[in-house]
Amino acid sequence: MIKISKGQPPQSFIKWISSKPKNKNENEWFKELFQQGKWDIVGDLSFKNAEEQFFICCYCCDYVSGDSSDTKNEHVVARDIAPEKSLDYTNILASCNKLRQCDHAHGNKALPLTPLMPECETEFNFKLSGRVEGLTDRATEAINVLNLGKDENANKSLVEKRKKIINDLLWANGVDPSEGLEDEELIEMIVEEIMTPVEGKLTPFAPILVNVMRGWL
Ligand SMILES: [Zn+2]
Repeated sequence: MIKISKGQPPQSFIKWISSKPKNKNENEWFKELFQQGKWDIVGDLSFKNAEEQFFICCYCCDYVSGDSSDTKNEHVVARDIAPEKSLDYTNILASCNKLRQCDHAHGNKALPLTPLMPECETEFNFKLSGRVEGLTDRATEAINVLNLGKDENANKSLVEKRKKIINDLLWANGVDPSEGLEDEELIEMIVEEIMTPVEGKLTPFAPILVNVMRGWL
């Protein structure tokens, strides 16, 4: 995960909220977006979220386009837990739509560590093997809730994809993964380069690579 800072919601979403009837609560009104087929507003929301996140999933850091074909409007605090936050833009992020992970795995469960918290960058420990472990109880819980690949049994496709991309990105930056790096300055140079968005986009899984490299220090 990478800490996400929220900006302003899209105008179409603000306008939609302002027309909310008094007899519906926020969760019911959010559902109306879909029931009434307001795909333009749903799309504006996904795209704005994806743009703010430099087009990576708020949880797994894989690519999201901001289009409904691969992007979900994910409520960090689930709508069933806090219906009053259903229309709160600061509670809505762009998640990938992969089955059994991220938005799909989250459902209406409590999530104790989120991309809105700066600790989301330090309480996970990603490994070259593609696996991830939690360094705190809440991080371990978040990995389980979102099925972020603690091992191959839990989420083989994500662990394998992450392993391949981390290793490819290291080679692409002139680093032999089996040797790693101990030079802090060199690591920070690579971090700065890989965390600089190009045309508003981050390389998918870049924050994971940063986590792996910082683990070498
Ligand atoms: Zn994801």
